[in-house]
Amino acid sequence: MDRLLADAATRPLCREDLIALLSLTAPQDVARLRRAAFDLATRTVGDGVYYRGIVEFSNECARNCHYCGIRAGNREVERYCLSHEEVVDCALWAAAMGYGSCVLQSGEKWDDAFVGFVEDCVREIKERSRGPELPDGLGITLSVGEHAPAVYRRFRAAGAHRYLLRIETSNPELFARLHPAAQRFEDRVACLSSLREAGFQVGTGVMIGIPGQTVGDLADDILFFRGQDVDMIGMGPYIVHDQSPMRGLGMMPHDELLSLALNMIAVTRLALPDVNIAATTALQALAPDGREQGIACGANVIMPNLTPQDARRNYQLYEGKPCLDEGREACRVCLQHRVETAGRTVVRNAWGDSRHFARRRPPLD
Ligand code: SAM
Repeated sequence: MDRLLADAATRPLCREDLIALLSLTAPQDVARLRRAAFDLATRTVGDGVYYRGIVEFSNECARNCHYCGIRAGNREVERYCLSHEEVVDCALWAAAMGYGSCVLQSGEKWDDAFVGFVEDCVREIKERSRGPELPDGLGITLSVGEHAPAVYRRFRAAGAHRYLLRIETSNPELFARLHPAAQRFEDRVACLSSLREAGFQVGTGVMIGIPGQTVGDLADDILFFRGQDVDMIGMGPYIVHDQSPMRGLGMMPHDELLSLALNMIAVTRLALPDVNIAATTALQALAPDGREQGIACGANVIMPNLTPQDARRNYQLYEGKPCLDEGREACRVCLQHRVETAGRTVVRNAWGDSRHFARRRPPLD
């Protein structure tokens, strides 16, 4: 164990090493793993935590992912799409609070009206968020699914500069069990390349604890992140949704799942020292301090929810999504406290770009 942790600093960890670290369960071993990841993050990405205020602007979705609460086939969800003004207002509020960056996320649609809507929102947020604190405006991450390369280029030209598209699992067979046949693993991987070619900082991630997933699959996920040379990682526990076709398969017990998800964050930090890693909201569905624990394992990004309260209850990807009855102001105060509890400070008015991206690419123009 100590040898493996020391090796992590000097050579790329192999699949067997990753499996050994991910499988740790003895409290003293787990504590040493997490401490090593936290200390490495301090050295490689610093002791700050960056905010990306997330606006879940629409739950309309043409996809039918078997695990997801807002899949097209779920007729019990009330569908919504915020107006252009509402999206821009949420983002400008984030800028005024010193968040530095926002994420626009939604279900997946491909029509011209949707693409134009996203583009227009990005453009206006960019223009109107410029000021003395943010001379280049808010940093904007998009998370709106799979699109053609030309569409990604349009989003990039409008001013978004980061994109999150989870691969969900790097195991093609497991991927096929989670999605209808029309959704192909190869297409998702190709989208990651298109995003990189369009000039985005590229983020991906997986769900942890999917029924049928092994620790070997999780080790392969980390090798996939490394192989794809990604800049950012957003991953979280798989949590069953009662109105999804996967409800009969259940999920891991909460405490085991939280522990595995935290090990995954820590081991990913050891394997990819300079990427941005998010402490995702789903961690908090398993424990009230789940996100702080994520930061204590080497995560350096957190996503305060900016979605208006009445829309939030209709963006339930999984059961028990936290903060549904909290407004954005309550989220702000609560998260700042959570970050400080984890021994980090919130960095205000900064994009907090991935150091990995800066290394692989010249500065953005
Ligand atoms: N449509 C965009 C896309 O597919 O990238 C973004 C929205 S999608 C709802 C965001 C993420 O929610 C997915 O990548 C998936 O990992 C996560 N998600 C959906 N259902 C989930 C569940 N039951 N448990 C945990 N995460 C889930």
